[in-house]
Amino acid sequence: MSDYRLNTKCVQAGYTPSNGEPRQIPIIQSTTFKYDTSEDMGKLFDLEASGYFYTRLQNPTNDYVAAKIAALEGGTAGMLTSSGQAANFYSLFNICECGSHIVSSSSIYGGTFNLISVTMKKMGIDVTFVAPDASEEELNAAFRENTRAVFGETIANPALTVLDIETYAKAAHAHGVPLIIDNTFPTPVNCRPIEWGADIVTHSTTKYMDGHGAAVGGAIVDSGKFDWMAHADLFPGLTTPDDSYHGITYAEKFGKEGAFITKATAQIMRDLGSIQSPQNAFLLNLGLESLHVRMPRHVENGQAIAEFLESHDKVESVNYPGLKSNKYYDVAQKYLGGGGCGVVSFVLKGGRPAAESFMKRLKLAAIETHVADARTCCLNPATSTHRQMTEEQLNAAGIPAGMVRMSCGLEDKADLIDDLKQALEF
Ligand SMILES: *Cc1c(COP(=O)(O)O)cnc(C)c1O
Repeated sequence: MSDYRLNTKCVQAGYTPSNGEPRQIPIIQSTTFKYDTSEDMGKLFDLEASGYFYTRLQNPTNDYVAAKIAALEGGTAGMLTSSGQAANFYSLFNICECGSHIVSSSSIYGGTFNLISVTMKKMGIDVTFVAPDASEEELNAAFRENTRAVFGETIANPALTVLDIETYAKAAHAHGVPLIIDNTFPTPVNCRPIEWGADIVTHSTTKYMDGHGAAVGGAIVDSGKFDWMAHADLFPGLTTPDDSYHGITYAEKFGKEGAFITKATAQIMRDLGSIQSPQNAFLLNLGLESLHVRMPRHVENGQAIAEFLESHDKVESVNYPGLKSNKYYDVAQKYLGGGGCGVVSFVLKGGRPAAESFMKRLKLAAIETHVADARTCCLNPATSTHRQMTEEQLNAAGIPAGMVRMSCGLEDKADLIDDLKQALEF
């Protein structure tokens, strides 16, 4: 599949049926798998042979879909998780432990911010947050001897800052650690972070990849490029024998291409168990089959709505990376070739009360704690997804209390603009 173009991979990568097999990915709704001899099964447990024995570790349906996502991102291996939260946690926890430190962009999804700054801190993993557009010097100053990973979002949810991936990758690699990029918003259709130097890519597949608001899920893809053995002292979990898995040294046995995902599966997923259900993986694949058709329409609608709002006199400011007035316009052109997604945020004149009246009047756009599906929806982050953040943290993340985040769906843009027009007559 690696020779085919992205559009073809969306439809066909990951699963190639042989003669007489189902055309559509089969849902293997089985917790367990049958073997003739204990010896056969023993080989699987020793990771001597590849195969399936228990769905908490691996399931064929999930593996087909993970392989498609890995192909789309240009990685060597992938895995599905039960949610985007699990994907980000696993990707970090696979290489961090008590006493480690993470350098992260300050402009990230609220759930991830909480995960890193509160929950992982309780596990003894420290973090230094830096601006998404930090200079090389600012980034370098954030590293410590115990730094094990750098984290950022291509397009941050909901601040819509665009990460300078190359600068982040350079700083990470100068310190011998990988760059992990959450690529949920642009999807591989609009950006492939591995091509810009990222080592690990994560997704909340709940968003555009599923695209229909049907199934919560996550994914992790490994570029296969990070040389763990070259920095063996920093990553003992990958470069020394795993006593909990028959003394296997992942980086030796599976190489750069397979070590990260094998460890995340055999150890982290085994112990923490955030597996995606095969049913959800099947639904996710239906979304992936049209991702390349849907994403351009999301971007087209996002751009049209951003431009309409920018010209409206009740609107104080509009934030969309595809607008020429946007601080990240040039970075967005470079990495995303445009606005990159269908999410637009804006601040109405009159602050929070104006935002509330406006949202109440909307007919097509529903109020939802969700983004990135076929139906247009909107939300006030300060009173919902980001309500655990202080006023100071909200401002640092670029989310003023009166902001409305609108996720432009796949409806006709003229109808969406008409809906906005009438709602703005509050
Ligand atoms: C939604 C989201 C997450 C969390 O994903 P869930 O599937 O809701 O757990 C992580 N990162 C980004 C950028 C998101 O938008």
